[in-house]
Amino acid sequence: MKKKQLEMMLERLEGFSKPSFAREQYSTPASVAAELLFLAAMHNDLGRVCDLGSGTGVLAIGAALMGAQAVGVEIDRDALATARKNADKLGADVDFIRADVKSLELRGIDTVVMNPPFGAQKTSEGDRAFLSCAQRIAKRIYSLHNRGSSHFIKKYIYPNLVQEAYCIPFPLKRCFEFHSHDLKMIEVELYRITCGDCSDCGDCSDSGD
Ligand code: SAH
Repeated sequence: MKKKQLEMMLERLEGFSKPSFAREQYSTPASVAAELLFLAAMHNDLGRVCDLGSGTGVLAIGAALMGAQAVGVEIDRDALATARKNADKLGADVDFIRADVKSLELRGIDTVVMNPPFGAQKTSEGDRAFLSCAQRIAKRIYSLHNRGSSHFIKKYIYPNLVQEAYCIPFPLKRCFEFHSHDLKMIEVELYRITCGDCSDCGDCSDSGD
């Protein structure tokens, strides 16, 4: 499948019906989801994939459409219902489960894909709980973060390693009342993180420092 084809399919998905401000429920735009998933595909990382905070399902569904065995983990019941509907709509086989990333234990996952809450709200712990969970369950992580997160991420995940980081355009659609534009272009950072302590993955050995 071509990246543009995947993007067009993911554009058909429904977003959050009543987005929660406290949980920072922003859907990943189809173009960004396709970018993240094609980076993972290029590294052969779309085996057993878990989408943490799967929301309405765009990353998990996209991964399944690209041949992954996909699981979506989400705390919000309404979002899960929409995600299941979205998967049916595109004929994607995804296992969506309700759980909190803070206590999630899941075996047999190769790769985590995620667009975690950025921690912009005081009520949110932001991306920390997500990064911790991702590192607990998988050796590969593809994750979206606020611009300027590089220093924090590298420190937080040590001894795991940032192997690649890209700044990518993120078309943010108006979803809360305080948003003054229907569409605002922002930039986010896409990270590829791998384990820093094994010798069999091929990534750790050539990581330099
Ligand atoms: N992955 C989706 C949604 C991103 S928004 C997408 O890319 O479009 C972040 C999501 O994380 C929201 O759906 C929110 O409900 C969920 N979330 C927030 N805290 C969570 C927690 N502790 N455990 C599981 N999911 C959580």
